Amino acid sequence: MRDRPSGTKINQPDPHVRRILERAELEGIELIRFLYADHGGVIRGKAASRSRLAERLRTGIGHTVAMMAMNMLDQLQEVEHMSPVGEVRIVPDPATYVPLPHAPGAAAMLSDLCLPDGTPWDACARTFLKNAVAELASENYTLQAAFEPEFTLGRRLPDPSGGPDRLVPLDDALCYANAGFDTAHDYTIKLMRALETQGLRVEHYHPELGPGQQELSIRHAPALRAADNHVLYRETVRGVAMRMSMWATLAPKPLADQSGNGAHLHLSLWRDSQNVFGEDDEIRAAFIGGLIAHLPALTALTCGSVNSFRRLSPRSWSSAYAVYGPDNREAAVRVCSPLGESGEPNLELKPSDSSANPYLSLGAVIHAGLDGIRRKLDPGEPVDVDPDTRPGRYPRLPASLPEALDALEADEVLMEALGPLRRNAYLTVKRSEAAAFAGRDVSYELFNHLRVF
Ligand code: GLU
Ligand code: MG
Repeated sequence: MRDRPSGTKINQPDPHVRRILERAELEGIELIRFLYADHGGVIRGKAASRSRLAERLRTGIGHTVAMMAMNMLDQLQEVEHMSPVGEVRIVPDPATYVPLPHAPGAAAMLSDLCLPDGTPWDACARTFLKNAVAELASENYTLQAAFEPEFTLGRRLPDPSGGPDRLVPLDDALCYANAGFDTAHDYTIKLMRALETQGLRVEHYHPELGPGQQELSIRHAPALRAADNHVLYRETVRGVAMRMSMWATLAPKPLADQSGNGAHLHLSLWRDSQNVFGEDDEIRAAFIGGLIAHLPALTALTCGSVNSFRRLSPRSWSSAYAVYGPDNREAAVRVCSPLGESGEPNLELKPSDSSANPYLSLGAVIHAGLDGIRRKLDPGEPVDVDPDTRPGRYPRLPASLPEALDALEADEVLMEALGPLRRNAYLTVKRSEAAAFAGRDVSYELFNHLRVF
């Protein structure tokens, strides 16, 4: 018998795996959800039992390739290589295990979609973001990011006239009004605790504009972690509400005549522990140039649903024009002034909401910014007025999902970055959603977005 090479470990599980198994037992976890985000922007997954967890951490859970051809109405689309024949694995990232305080007995792990041989599948959204981060690293940059989500809190009531259920907002408190802190207090404290338990660091909270609207922001993190955080955030906002017999939605425009829910994307670029956006005006300008140049196409990924485009209207602080400006809340890219001396300069992308797949959205933003840096794209003059007060002067963002998808299809940089399988599936799934809502009444669109997002 040959000697084992020194240092080889037999029956010594990966320390991550050992830690997860120990934690799951200690925390009384029975089910561990392996979660991923699909082309419809929906968070889906399968759960492993604790007794089978050790093995499933290694093998993942089997899944049909066809699920990445499903739209947000659970209508399966015909996409090449995503037929009912073919298998992938939902493979959890061991660094992402978190217990879910709003679902006692359950934990979650953010997951990749891999081929049975363990290599990442070309349609895995999380891998798309990882690759974008690697591309950035090849130029010696890293990106810190944070989604700044808004949501609407209320109750779900049947429609007396037999239509879709209605979201009845929790309150009619005014924007930032102290009274709003009180009406939403019990929920907010539970939400904060649930988020902090999952390792998300809460920055700020306030009652927002419009009935039941809330905003609770999360501290920035490296790009992949920021997207993982946003998945957990979305599910926790809704899960905590459900446990309290309430209904919460992050849909971009759940109530047609009220303020929309954004998920503005805050970005800072780093090199050698320096925030490049604070140190190098040229690089910052080129990154903005990349965002502005790709904005029409980007919105197809950052504002991923039919309902998204109802939100992008002028005078809503959600942005309707493809311009940038210092602390300009009507510009698509706001150059944020830092908070205090230790504050970090960052960019805020306003055409971004929680119906997007956060991995595709953030990955595409990285590719756009990087393209700006590589080609030294000029962002033009900053805009220091509300662009809507200068009719015809500034370019509008796409007005609908089909318009944004056409722009995406025409954008060589983003189409190349997405790759053939993913771009074909994304365009097909999203066009099917646009078709499914076309010609239907507004209440059908609102209900379906608020129940999913
Ligand atoms: N609710 C606005 C939106 O749809 C954002 C308001 C703000 O926080 O500036 O983006
Ligand atoms: Mg806000």
